[in-house]
Amino acid sequence: LPDPAGGPGGLSCPPRMDPFADTLQRLREAFVSGRTRPAEFRDAQLKGLSRFLRENKQLLQEALAQDLHKSAFEAEVSEISISQNEINLALRNLRTWMKDEKVSKNLATQLDSAFIRKEPFGLVLILSPWNYPLNLSLGPLVGALAAGNCVVLKPSEISKNTEKVLAEVLPRYLDQSCFAVVLGGPQETGRLLEHKFDYIFFTGNPQVGKIVMTAAAKHLTPVTLELGGKNPCYVDDNCDPQTVANRVAFFRCFNAGQTCVAPDYVLCSPEMQAQLVPALQSAITRFYGDDPQSSPNLGRIISQKHFQRLRGLLSCGRVVIGGQSDECDLYIAPTVLVDVQETDPVMQEEIFGPILPIVNVRSLGQAIDFINRREKPLALYAFSNSSQVVKRVLAQTSSGGFCGNDGFMHLTLASLPFGGVGSSGMGNYHGKFSFDTFSHHRACLLRRPGLEKIYAIRYPPHTPRNLRV
Ligand code: NAD
Repeated sequence: LPDPAGGPGGLSCPPRMDPFADTLQRLREAFVSGRTRPAEFRDAQLKGLSRFLRENKQLLQEALAQDLHKSAFEAEVSEISISQNEINLALRNLRTWMKDEKVSKNLATQLDSAFIRKEPFGLVLILSPWNYPLNLSLGPLVGALAAGNCVVLKPSEISKNTEKVLAEVLPRYLDQSCFAVVLGGPQETGRLLEHKFDYIFFTGNPQVGKIVMTAAAKHLTPVTLELGGKNPCYVDDNCDPQTVANRVAFFRCFNAGQTCVAPDYVLCSPEMQAQLVPALQSAITRFYGDDPQSSPNLGRIISQKHFQRLRGLLSCGRVVIGGQSDECDLYIAPTVLVDVQETDPVMQEEIFGPILPIVNVRSLGQAIDFINRREKPLALYAFSNSSQVVKRVLAQTSSGGFCGNDGFMHLTLASLPFGGVGSSGMGNYHGKFSFDTFSHHRACLLRRPGLEKIYAIRYPPHTPRNLRV
């Protein structure tokens, strides 16, 4: 019988081709050589990233427009300048962040030097999604390079125009012995994940997050998982409906609703709903005109698959605003649904499109119970003129981030960590948090070789005198 393993005397099987092995070996060798560690090297990589953004701005805007019909405004604020700000912050603070952090000492270590050293993990894998394909690739990349790692970036295959720019242009701006872009969909990424990395940073949906974490567990590789979910938006009776409607409509429709922190559904009383619906209609018409499909400011759905999924959700509850769709254009109109039940499909999955269901609650307590019955969201919003109400929602719920009286403004602050909790993710980044995420915090104590007479008190035979110390 032939040897199933294709061994001597058996059938010879062609060796299983591994498209990633050479690249990963090259990066590993570069890391071991120590070249990514000096501040000057990290500085040069960050400056390269900055030049990439400056010199390819138009190319990037075009790619984002082709992938998602992103307006120049949205591309600038949510992809290009947000990435540039992260780079600038890292460049300004790199040497401070890299410094050893002195820590307090106890009696037994008074004469020692004790500190935390931030050292790079080694070879890092970044897996990014399609909805902010530039920002969510470069954001983690800034942290990984600043921390002195070698990096493999695997952008989403779905935002294919941006993927192409990242694969063909970005590496020219970085040291290619330490950085590589690899391409592929789920199957190729599965193969990639068989390799051992020193850290994996994943942004995407929770189901894929489980696949990534399972693969990482085989090598005991630490992970950051930036996932998604349904972000509740509580609207109190005590508020100005038009102001709330402007803010909710803007953040719901930004990037055609394909934002992990978008307000996913509104919780309010039937009385507030009666005022909110005309206010939302007014806001949507002001933002996108009478025919939103012809507006240059409204994005498109990324793919046929997501378009079909979203069109299916339009049949939940009752459409009171929008409801139109055009398959050829991957267009879904900004839509508001009422009479929505907790059990409707639109309340079971992250919507990720310009559809806003309103679910009625009778009281603030009922809204809080509703939120707490579900998975912990990535973001939570509460609108009220009463700071007591906003603070009560904050105090009695949990979420990755929270914003009172607006949409996802909290993520614009690099001084706040960005990340989920529970099923919306683990770990965080942005600003210094990114540097810390991609650094191992090594506990160090340096003791002088001498002074043995003092330290000898530890050694047996132990006497009552030892115990008094
Ligand atoms: P996704 O999980 O489908 O894809 C993310 C990455 O994983 C891509 O690079 C993709 O190629 C890869 N991938 C997909 N399926 C895989 C599989 N079976 N095995 C291995 N790799 C696989 O996510 P998406 O559709 O690109 O993005 C949308 C999701 O991402 C939403 O759930 C959204 O909430 C979430 N998201 C979260 C954040 C955040 O910061 N928390 C930001 C943006 C998007």
